[in-house]
Amino acid sequence: MLRVALTGGIGSGKTAVSNYLETLGVMVLDADRFAHQVTAKGEDAVTEIANVLGPAVIDADGHLDRATVRELVFTDPKKRAALESIVHPRVRRKMNEAASQATGPYVIFSIPLLIETGQAGNFDRVVVVEAARELRAERVLERSGLDQQAFSSIDDAQASDVDRRNAATDILNNNGSLESLHAEVNTLHEHLTALSGEQGKTADNADNINPTL
Ligand code: ATP
Repeated sequence: MLRVALTGGIGSGKTAVSNYLETLGVMVLDADRFAHQVTAKGEDAVTEIANVLGPAVIDADGHLDRATVRELVFTDPKKRAALESIVHPRVRRKMNEAASQATGPYVIFSIPLLIETGQAGNFDRVVVVEAARELRAERVLERSGLDQQAFSSIDDAQASDVDRRNAATDILNNNGSLESLHAEVNTLHEHLTALSGEQGKTADNADNINPTL
């Protein structure tokens, strides 16, 4: 089974791609969802985060105060690195556990900060969703309460389109309608399914060549 990473800038259409892939029966593992899971009330990561960032990050009910965490790490790279060293290994472990249960030709790991966290090399394929910055801003502003300034500061802090493109094995263009995005995903799905079949054949051949290994 192929391990396929899916990434893209803020508002590029990662969720739209994931949702459509799920309708095709593909298992999608979402790093953001796992990050929430490992930092839920009562998880040991929450205690560790409070040890590093201070008790103010836990609210009166024992939940992680995500807005305070974001504020604390946004301008402090050391604190951000400390937070990531707590959360990321747990997320990776959970995603790998979930992937080991997957069936089908490939499994998608949706990881918004794939490039920034240096994980591209851990996957067989890296799919990047692209859309022009103005279009992404327009779509995100329409969807959420973010304003243009907040969008820009998030986008500026993330990897550039060039960095993502350099890591990509497959690119989905999301500058058009959702229908055209779905058509791109259909083509990608066929491609990945075919590649997975070839990978299986290679593995079979390797077994035949070296039966004692
Ligand atoms: P984020 O980085 O914020 O998690 P994302 O990469 O997951 O975003 P989506 O949530 O899929 O992006 O898309 C952003 C917004 O744009 C959503 O409201 C989505 O419905 C809309 N959108 C995505 N693709 C298109 C499209 N081709 N046409 C119109 N709207 C779109």
